[in-house]
Amino acid sequence: MVSAIKNKESIVTYPTMEPKKQLKKCPHCNKGLLRNRAKRPLLVKATLFWLPIKRYECSFCYKKTYVYGSVFEDSNNADNNS
Ligand SMILES: [Zn+2]
Repeated sequence: MVSAIKNKESIVTYPTMEPKKQLKKCPHCNKGLLRNRAKRPLLVKATLFWLPIKRYECSFCYKKTYVYGSVFEDSNNADNNS
């Protein structure tokens, strides 16, 4: 059973790597984090497809917010641009 799970989760985010990246806070409530990816409306997709804009849903107030670039806060170290 364990080996089956291992095969399934080939992309794993290790907990030890988490503290380096901090999810952006929701600008609406300032409490929730933008952790759920939300679908962009077709109009946005069609017009802003060339911009690195993503849409996220707040985990607290469930409002949708557009994020330009990375959803993670910049943490002064610029070594995470793979
Ligand atoms: Zn919120």
